[in-house]
Amino acid sequence: MKEENPLPQNTLSDPAESIEGSASAPISDVTRADKSTHPTRKPTAFDWPVALFMVGVHLVALLGFFTFSWKALGVCLLLHWITGGLGITLCYHRLLTHRSFQTPKWMEYFLSILGSLACQGGPLTWVAVHRMHHAQSDQPLDPHSPRHGFFWAHMGWCLHAVTGVATSEEKTKLAPDLAKDPVHAWLDKVQLIWSAPLAWGLYALGGWPFVIWGIFVRLVTVYHTTWAVNSAAHVWGYKNYKSDDDSTNLWWVALATFGEGWHNNHHAFQFSARHGLKWWELDATYLTIQLLEKLGIATAIKLPSQHLLNTKLPSHSR
Ligand SMILES: [Zn+2]
Ligand SMILES: [Zn+2]
Repeated sequence: MKEENPLPQNTLSDPAESIEGSASAPISDVTRADKSTHPTRKPTAFDWPVALFMVGVHLVALLGFFTFSWKALGVCLLLHWITGGLGITLCYHRLLTHRSFQTPKWMEYFLSILGSLACQGGPLTWVAVHRMHHAQSDQPLDPHSPRHGFFWAHMGWCLHAVTGVATSEEKTKLAPDLAKDPVHAWLDKVQLIWSAPLAWGLYALGGWPFVIWGIFVRLVTVYHTTWAVNSAAHVWGYKNYKSDDDSTNLWWVALATFGEGWHNNHHAFQFSARHGLKWWELDATYLTIQLLEKLGIATAIKLPSQHLLNTKLPSHSR
């Protein structure tokens, strides 16, 4: 049987003239691979270091029950937004994976460090896994589809080697733009180091309660809300657009992830900087991108045109 290349080509699947914003901005959609010939997902090696790290973080987070204070909760929520909202959602996802807008390089690297503080892997690794998800969404080679089990989609997958994204060669194929950037390549290798000065700073400011809530409880909240995009927002909720996968819009995931829960919209228009496309679909990250634009830090913001939106309505036939 002919071997199909499971890796996505980073090409725009929609015509550039359908995108509002700079048509010369870097391409950002992932072309879907041919789905018909892929084998079912094969078991992959259990990643003991990651599993022990995850168990450790969750166990230490339980100390939050004994160290609660309103200030500590405030620190947790602020860092949930800084590392999950700005680091993962705005930077790792909308900026680095999909290039839905542009920022100066210094800002990109700074935001990338904020993403590293979420301890979800460095920028190269995270982007490679996510581009694989779009190329194979809800098919056998999707790293985290609920079709392989809800727990698998939520967190089981990250306790294993990810098929097609396990080696540096595979990551480089999926994210060549980041691999050839020496700063991002370095940030990918040292992603955990930034949490140490943060923990020291928190200890100096508020002792162990700030460390427990600002690092461990916050890591748990950012993990499970990010993972809910992969699990819950491919199971429950509604669809606005045809996306050829199981992705859904789910309001509570959108609230917890600063807009990522409008996931059906995102799968339909990957390049779009705005995920909440209806007036009631609050998208805090898009509001932040608009603020950055006003400050002159975000440019080339990509949005789907009305014509393109119409072509993916359920009632529209090609
Ligand atoms: Zn998805
Ligand atoms: Zn995406």
